[in-house]
Amino acid sequence: MSETKLKITSLSEQELADYIAGLGQPAFRARQIFRWLHQRGVTDFSKMTDIPKSLIALLDAQTEIESLTVARKQVSKDGTVKFLFRLPDGNCIESVIMRYHYGNTICVSSEVGCRMGCRFCASTQNGLVRPLTAGEIAAQVYAAGAELGERISHIVMMGIGEPLDNYDNVLKFLHLISSPNGLNIGMRNISLSTCGLVPKIRQLAQEKLGLTLSISLHAPNNRMRSSMMPINDAFPLEQLMPTCREYQKITGRRISFEYSMVKGVNDSPKTARELAELIRGMGAHVNLIPINPVDGSPYSASDAANVERFRALLERMGVNATVRRRLGTDISAACGQLRQEEARKGEMPR
Ligand code: SAH
Repeated sequence: MSETKLKITSLSEQELADYIAGLGQPAFRARQIFRWLHQRGVTDFSKMTDIPKSLIALLDAQTEIESLTVARKQVSKDGTVKFLFRLPDGNCIESVIMRYHYGNTICVSSEVGCRMGCRFCASTQNGLVRPLTAGEIAAQVYAAGAELGERISHIVMMGIGEPLDNYDNVLKFLHLISSPNGLNIGMRNISLSTCGLVPKIRQLAQEKLGLTLSISLHAPNNRMRSSMMPINDAFPLEQLMPTCREYQKITGRRISFEYSMVKGVNDSPKTARELAELIRGMGAHVNLIPINPVDGSPYSASDAANVERFRALLERMGVNATVRRRLGTDISAACGQLRQEEARKGEMPR
């Protein structure tokens, strides 16, 4: 039964080395196998042409390579590609490839669903189904890269799920994907976005990974933020903001703030001033994103002129802010929506 097999793609490099050594094999075999799994992204042991047949048979019997199948694929006119991937247990997740001048960026999911409950987000509407394993997060990069036939150079953890709510698996994934024996995607090319789990941000700071941390801020005061994001009740701004400053001090890396703009909720000039005040002196970057309206949410997007006014106001107050270029608007908008459409069709359990 596949559930009882060792998930070989979720083993760290060291764990794989220990496992292979335990089979009485020389150390170089572990390195070969790691490269097949994480550099070439093979999904079938029989493709490992330099591994003895007897060892392949053993690996096949004892372990499983976590792989994904493409349930749906949408290609936008601007080159953005959105994948709905099916996991072996039937659940679906989304990954998106965005083409930038500096390379291909993949937005990966970290969980099936999410338990954070942000009121504007499609991914959380049915709660958390389960966290993804490290191998399942990595498999999104390998499968999308294979489909694309091009190198993926950048990763953003901004898909379905709250990465810091799946901390250990996400950390393991980050090490797998940045390994020189794997795809070797440097931490400088990786961004991780969180809704603000304060203790986990503190823990992440201690790892000193060199990735870019994005905080989904969305509002500059507790009243407004709690109305949009229930997590703010657990970790209000007076805890979150000092933690962000501390993170910057420990890691030497600037944080970026995500700010999704909702008409009539968080987009007034007064709110812009409050936001500038809140993050003054941090040198942090603010990404403004007109909210993507999702079914069942009361929110609508600020209009473009208002977003621009808000951006200009922030700039005038010394805050670096950009309006996120919208890619793939002709294909299923915000992350989490494809999975929802699929669920409604009754083709998967949730
Ligand atoms: N859980 C993580 C990462 C996933 S979402 C987090 O909260 O940061 C990635 C970003 O998209 C977050 O900033 C999130 O708040 C934002 N987002 C979610 N739904 C959105 C929507 N419908 N419109 C605009 N931004 C949205």
